Amino acid sequence: MPPAKMSMFETANHYFEQAADWMGLDREMRILLKIPHREIRVEIPIRMDDGHLESFVGYRVQHNGVRGPQEGGIRYHPQVDHDEVRALAELMTWKTAIVNIPFGGAKGGVTCDPSKMSKWELERLTRRFTSKIALILGPYRDIPAPDMNTNAQVMAWMMDEYGRKQGHSPAVVTGKPVELGGSKGREQATGRGVSMVCAEAAPQFGISLKGARVVIQGFGNVGSFAARYLHEAGCRVIALSDQFGGVVNREGIDVKAALAHVEQHKKLDGLAGASPISNDDMLLLECDILVPAAIGGVINSSNAERLQCKMIVEAANAPTSARADAILERRKIPLIPDILANAGGVTVSYFEWTQNLTQFFWEEEKVNEELHRILKKAYAEVSALAISRHLAMRQAAFVVALDRVAAATRLRGV
Ligand code: NAD
Repeated sequence: MPPAKMSMFETANHYFEQAADWMGLDREMRILLKIPHREIRVEIPIRMDDGHLESFVGYRVQHNGVRGPQEGGIRYHPQVDHDEVRALAELMTWKTAIVNIPFGGAKGGVTCDPSKMSKWELERLTRRFTSKIALILGPYRDIPAPDMNTNAQVMAWMMDEYGRKQGHSPAVVTGKPVELGGSKGREQATGRGVSMVCAEAAPQFGISLKGARVVIQGFGNVGSFAARYLHEAGCRVIALSDQFGGVVNREGIDVKAALAHVEQHKKLDGLAGASPISNDDMLLLECDILVPAAIGGVINSSNAERLQCKMIVEAANAPTSARADAILERRKIPLIPDILANAGGVTVSYFEWTQNLTQFFWEEEKVNEELHRILKKAYAEVSALAISRHLAMRQAAFVVALDRVAAATRLRGV
């Protein structure tokens, strides 16, 4: 049983070693695959609106670029630290390999609390951070995307700042506004992908998507679009939450009304026709599909024995601790891992990058069709391995990914 307390990077490496042991990967290949290729930590001093100076810490970790330019989100959050960014960068390497797109993995973040910053402060922070990491970015090197508390506007500032020295370079970031060369369907892609993966997984684990009771933690970009598309697929969304708490209605929440409520009030609290519930308690609700779509580590040794869901679909990155993962496996609760479940975002980032390089833009139907094709194939490959070799879905996903990155590494040489 893994220790109860492990950092996010230790957890990612625990899954890595599990898969590497099963595959019999040699010591040298483990060194080549596991250690991040390049890491940068920068100090970001900016003037706040009242004129005083604050300095923030930012990171960009390029984990592995053997299969292509490194792609990964930029997170703004008070808990961002080096360990978390490393872990998330590593997960991006495996994620891009599972969906078999020609990208490696990277991640970035700034330790800050955007809820306490004005738009102008966020713009100054983003521009300064971009200029400090610009030397390692580039359309064929490293391509940022949105993550927690960053969005299309932040990507627009990054592109603009990078372009000041390098010239117009839309392909240097993805998740941009459509007006600046962003892809149709990118904003919705991660949540849409989560619902597509649910549609593949549900029948495999004896759940009918029509009428399935779904609990979603996190109602930001990923959680809100996942809720919308799962609702459209006929699921009964019985609980939703954001950082301020959750709402529950066992008969089903009107997702459209929840979206309108959040648009107006900026939080779910007070949603008509639903009762309040805490973020901790909502995870314990009896349901068919539990979708963590907010922060990491929420499913852990303190609640894994008490979960009452039939399946977990990890829309968030690293929402499950290693010990909880082992408990869930023992309890035979199937889990679709983050590196497969939320890969829709990076897949459409790849489409956006392709459109920027070719300067030929796709209609949204084509984006969604190609996304569906890629996720369906990735799901089928991981699940075929899981079934034939009696592996948990997470382990099978890691094996598929490690195998692809190892093959590329052998061909390229050290
Ligand atoms: P977001 O900032 O748009 O939304 C985050 C949501 O989580 C908000 O509703 C916020 O209120 C809620 N939240 C924050 N702290 C919370 C807490 N302590 N408890 C409960 N809820 C909390 O972020 P996002 O882009 O939707 O990202 C959510 C997760 O999905 C992250 O783990 C991210 O890494 C992952 N992810 C995002 C993308 C993407 O394309 N945006 C792609 C893959 C994975």
